[in-house]
Amino acid sequence: MLLLKGARLVDPQLGLDSIANLLIDGERIAAVGTDVTAPQGAQVRDMSGKVIMPGFIDVHVHLREPGQEYKETIATGSRAAVKGGFVGVAPMANTNPVCDTGSRVTFLLEREQEEAVCRIHPIGACTKGLKGETLAEIGDMVAAGAVAFSDDGRGVQDDGVMRRVMDYVKMFDKCVMSHCQREDLVGSGVVNEGVVSTRLGMAGWPAAGEEIQISRDIALSNLTRCKLHIQHITTAAGVELVQRAKAAGIPVTCEVTPHHLFLCEDDIGVDYDTNLKMNPPLRTAKDTKALQEALIRGDIDCVATDHAPHAAHEKALEFELAPFGTTGLESAVALLMDRLVNSGRMGYDRLVQVLSVNPRKVLGLEPLRLEAGAIADLSIVDPNAKLIVGEGGFESKSANSAFLGWELSGAPSDVYVGGVARMIDGKLV
Ligand SMILES: [Zn+2]
Repeated sequence: MLLLKGARLVDPQLGLDSIANLLIDGERIAAVGTDVTAPQGAQVRDMSGKVIMPGFIDVHVHLREPGQEYKETIATGSRAAVKGGFVGVAPMANTNPVCDTGSRVTFLLEREQEEAVCRIHPIGACTKGLKGETLAEIGDMVAAGAVAFSDDGRGVQDDGVMRRVMDYVKMFDKCVMSHCQREDLVGSGVVNEGVVSTRLGMAGWPAAGEEIQISRDIALSNLTRCKLHIQHITTAAGVELVQRAKAAGIPVTCEVTPHHLFLCEDDIGVDYDTNLKMNPPLRTAKDTKALQEALIRGDIDCVATDHAPHAAHEKALEFELAPFGTTGLESAVALLMDRLVNSGRMGYDRLVQVLSVNPRKVLGLEPLRLEAGAIADLSIVDPNAKLIVGEGGFESKSANSAFLGWELSGAPSDVYVGGVARMIDGKLV
């Protein structure tokens, strides 16, 4: 048994926010309270100054295994997740081969057992090979353990195909996660279409290319009643579409990434830093502000990183040729702590909502609570810890972070997965 002593415990699901002790027995929480003491023989850790919360989940990552293990693996990606304060991640299906059959899901879950230090919740493809033409083996993947479905990396272009995907996924009461991108509008765009694409002389990726597909998917969710989750939303108008759909009772949720929250197109300068090339692209400063406000207000449900590792030689290409994406697992929680929580703009209760409660709902996972009997998956932060992004290297195989060198105050310090310590005082166990 292990007693975590004297931390601030925050769980909005229980209305809990107080200094107390938490006793772990095996994989579960045995007791929570100010009067809970260590039974004989129990280990005791002084956690004063730290904040213990229900474990954080990242619903959108790319772990690159199988097929691109030189960028990331289940082992390194899960270590990056724990380092960043997460107890679980949901890897997208755009691996090689694509995760579009039950046996590919089984492969991931076997790798989880063999290699992972956090939980892996596989996302299955909506269509075979992410081609957007015929349905993937959705039932087979559900039986094998897929928690949701997405063709992430691409939008499903054909309306009829997307409708059939939703009809089918709805039968299993799962969620379709949608990367919204109309290829006929976006073409070879690499940065937001507007002033900055003109200034830099690069092909534009217009906001309409995202918003039109958000509208379509909301209409199809309304038609099929299938749960829809909009991935990496980037514009104020997109958030408004989701907000209106929710008000109309359509089962839609959305996520935002740390890079769309804290960076904008103006950050791309004439050094053409390819770590700032992402899909969808960084939008306007006005959008960034609106996204932050929507997250704080509750109109955006989750923060997800879209952790997209790439090898150094790939990102060393010219801006137009470099692959899209930034890593995110090892900086996301610290960014939220520094920019929103420590600055007083957002409470810990909301942090738990956007990193644990809502992400688990999207994936259809049982809620985690800080109460006796619950699984001891815990994310713990030290509000006073300092973190310089990238200093001392990353646990991820890749270093293509859009936040390299950012000095942040407040960082993840400890992680428990099923009662097992995976990080203690900022160091992986
Ligand atoms: Zn995507």
